[in-house]
This record gives sequence, C-alpha cells and structure tokens, in this order.
Amino acid sequence: MNEKTLVLIKPDAVAKGLTGNIISDLDNLGLKMIGLKLVKVTDELAKAHYLEHKERPFFNDLILHITGKLHNNAPVIAIVYEGESAIEKIRKLAGSTNPEKAELKSLRGKYGRIHSETKCLETVIHSSDSAESAKREIALWFAQDELIK
Ligand code: ADP
Ligand code: MG
Repeated sequence: MNEKTLVLIKPDAVAKGLTGNIISDLDNLGLKMIGLKLVKVTDELAKAHYLEHKERPFFNDLILHITGKLHNNAPVIAIVYEGESAIEKIRKLAGSTNPEKAELKSLRGKYGRIHSETKCLETVIHSSDSAESAKREIALWFAQDELIK
C-alpha cells in the first residue's frame, strides 16, 4: 500500500554528525522524500508528538532528549517519505527501540547507544508506527504547503 510516514532524525544523531549516513541509508529504501526541514523542538511540540507516552516513567527524559537538551541543544531533522509499505520499511531499518538489542545493521544497531550517565536511549530516529499515527504526526510537524504533491 502507498503510505506516507514521518521520520525524525533525533538530536543524538544530529549532534554526532550522522545525518548524512542516515539519509543515505533511508535513500537506499527507494522511497520518495516529499518534505524536509530542520526544527528546533519546543517542549510543546515534543509533548504533543509523544502524547501517547505521557504516563510512562521515562516521559520527562524523552522530552529532554527530543528537545535536544541532552545533546548540546541540537535540532531535529523532520522528513516525510512516501511509497509502498513506507511505514514498515522504515521501522525495520530503524530497528528495535532498545539500541543495545537492535539488529546490528539497523540504524539503531549501528548508531544508537544507551548513554552511560544520562541513561538516555539514543534511538537515532523516530518513525511513525501506523498509518493513523503517520497522519497525526505529519500534520503536527508540517503545514500542507511544505509537502511536495
Ligand atoms: P519507538 O521509537 O521504537 O517507536 P516507543 O514509541 O516505544 O519506541 O518509544 C518512543 C521513544 O521513547 C523511544 O524512541 C525512546 O527514545 C524512548 N523510550 C522508549 N522506551 C524507553 C525506556 N524504557 N526508557 C527510556 N526511554 C525509552
Ligand atoms: Mg513509537
């Protein structure tokens, strides 16, 4: 099925200079990039994005991470991809949520870690987990006219 999905290259990856490698790996999936921008993430946007995790014990740390506060105030690169099974293809490339357990060749396996002091799960990218979340997340991060038709 043709799908749209949101990818966020997270502050840990931007701070480590991994943006080019990650976009290169994403390019190899053969999907179409239809939107891209650099975002300095506010607390408000972070909380709206991760609304589903509001009650989780790691929520505050998650907000600190995605707003860049654990990584030199690095921004996020937000990208929308479109294509056949885009959601599943990118989730597979991302790998398991725990970077220490992620498949070795996944983005999290290659570039992720658990920070020894902050205990932050440096998960490298976010990618939408269903068509429904993709729709909500794309509308949160992009205006209609920022996407290529
Ligand atoms: P995914 O990013 O694989 O979709 P989740 O939606 O479950 O994973 O979690 C969202 C983000 O919250 C993760 O990418 C990670 O940054 C953080 N996170 C998830 N689980 C934990 C945990 N147990 N401890 C700390 N942070 C976590
Ligand atoms: Mg998720």
